[in-house]
This record gives sequence, structure tokens and C-alpha cells, in this order.
Amino acid sequence: MMQLFIPLNFLGFVYREIRGALANIERMFELLALTPKITNLEHAIDQSPELPQVEFNEVSFDYDGRPIIQGISFLVPAGKKVAVVGDSGAGKSTLIKLLFRFYDVSQGAISIGGTDIRKLSLAALRQSIAIVPQDTVLFNDTLYDNIRYGRPDATDAEIKQAAKLAHLSDFVESLPLKWQTKVGERGLKLSGGEKQRVSIARAILKGASILVFDEATSSLDSHAEKAILDALKAAAKGHTSLVVAHRLSTIVDADTILVLSQGKVVEQGTHDSLLSQQGLYARLWRLQNETQ
Ligand code: ADP
Ligand code: MG
Repeated sequence: MMQLFIPLNFLGFVYREIRGALANIERMFELLALTPKITNLEHAIDQSPELPQVEFNEVSFDYDGRPIIQGISFLVPAGKKVAVVGDSGAGKSTLIKLLFRFYDVSQGAISIGGTDIRKLSLAALRQSIAIVPQDTVLFNDTLYDNIRYGRPDATDAEIKQAAKLAHLSDFVESLPLKWQTKVGERGLKLSGGEKQRVSIARAILKGASILVFDEATSSLDSHAEKAILDALKAAAKGHTSLVVAHRLSTIVDADTILVLSQGKVVEQGTHDSLLSQQGLYARLWRLQNETQ
């Protein structure tokens, strides 16, 4: 009896820890960062960099010896929007994980405002970046509290303003319980598009200078797609942003588009210049517009 009791109790603990961590990808990263690999330097800089400029310099990364990112360099100047597109498995989400120091690069360096992110404290690094992850996991609480999670000390007005910018207000106001509506276990009562907008509202509320958006792959109808697009535009305003996109219509306005293939940047430019190159991007664009 005793033997059974202990493991079950332990499992319960693990389950609660994991469930708690899944509520927010950043907390999950923090928990995973407790592994000895990702740690603060002894004299880590505990202040977010002033200039929100992101630079990848000859960055390579491998998972247990399997090369995933191979010598990638690019710059996101302060206030600009850089988009990353490419096939599934190309390494797009990995770039974001590296920026957030979920993992450390194998070679090269990532810097913010000229400072190598390994020299920043994890808190200072993560304070300067708001992430809208590919799979937003909400916790079973009210819509209001799920948004407030972006900055727990935000005022009521700030929370409602973030929701408004994320094109969520009309939806919330149409619900019988409005802001007090529970989203269900892991947000199951919301559509994919609504969940991603809650995540955008959270990111807006956080007020970080760098915004990272990893577009969900799930298919959306054109109305939901437009709502996300508008929310994203509002969120990116005045921010430095790095946007991973599946629907190319999301990123036609980006200052630079990087086309990733098997961990390498194979093309790079604006939407128009990439179309005229008649390469991979032009092919992806044609494909998406044929199937619409
Ligand atoms: P994308 O976002 O472009 O679809 P990812 O960055 O998620 O691609 O993944 C790039 C590659 O890295 C894929 O081949 C994937 O299987 C692999 N990968 C992703 N996460 C892990 C992991 N935790 N361990 C090992 N391999 C991984
Ligand atoms: Mg991905």
C-alpha cells in the first residue's frame, strides 16, 4: 500500500507542476531553464538592453549532434519587422527558442542591443521579449485572468485596452459572462484564432520592446485570419518584431523576409523583391494563392 501511495503522490506533484508550467510558455521555459545548461553568468547584466535590436551572427545549433540551424545571420533593426518563412521543420520555431534562451547556440551569437544574450540575466532577457507561441496554452481560468497573465500588475483599463488592440473586445462582450467567461481546460472552449488573439493581448499587455510571433499552423477561415492579422499589426506597432508565418499574407508588409530551408537562409528580401527572384518564395506564394 505504501509503495503505491508514494509514486501516485509524486505523479500528482509532477502533473501539477507540468500543468502549471503549460499555462504559459514563458514559465515553461523558465522551469526548463532550471537545468544546469542554461544559467545566469556570475555577473549577468540584470537590465534589459536599451536598444531593441536583435542580431543573429553566424548562429548554428544542433540537437544532440543533428544540425538544425546552420550559420544563420540576420539583423532586426529597432522598430522593424523581420519575417521568417519556410517549410515545416526548416527550423523557424528553433530560432525563437534560441532567442529566448530555451537552448544556447552551438556556434555564433545572438545579441540584443549589441549585448550577447548569454551575458544578460534570464530575467532581463525575457523581460524584453513578448512571445506569441505557435501553440498557445491557456489555463482554465477566466478570459480576463488569462490576458492579465501578460502583466499581473496591469490595471483594468490596460487589460481592456490590450484586448481591444488584439481585436478581442467585441468577441468578449458578445459572451453571456463576458470577461468572466472561463476558457475551459487548456482553452478548449475557444477557437484557435481566439486563443491566438488572447495570446497577442497578453503580449501587448506585457509591454516588452521586442515582439516574437510564431503563427499557428491550424487553418483559419478568412475572417479569423483577418482578425489575427489586424491584432498582430496593432501589437507590432512601435515594436521590433520577428514573425514566423505560414500564411504569406501575414508578412507581405515585413521590412525583410527570410526564407529558411533546412536550417539555412536561402533567400532574403522584401515581398516584391523575392517575387521577382522567381525562387522558393515566389513558388510558395503561387502555391498559396492557387489554393485559396
Ligand atoms: P519549424 O518551426 O520550421 O517547423 P522547428 O524549428 O520546430 O521547425 O524544428 C526544426 C527541426 O528540429 C525539425 O526537424 C524538428 O524535428 C527538430 N526538433 C525540434 N525540436 C526538437 C527537440 N526538442 N529535440 C530534437 N529535435 C527537435
Ligand atoms: Mg514551428
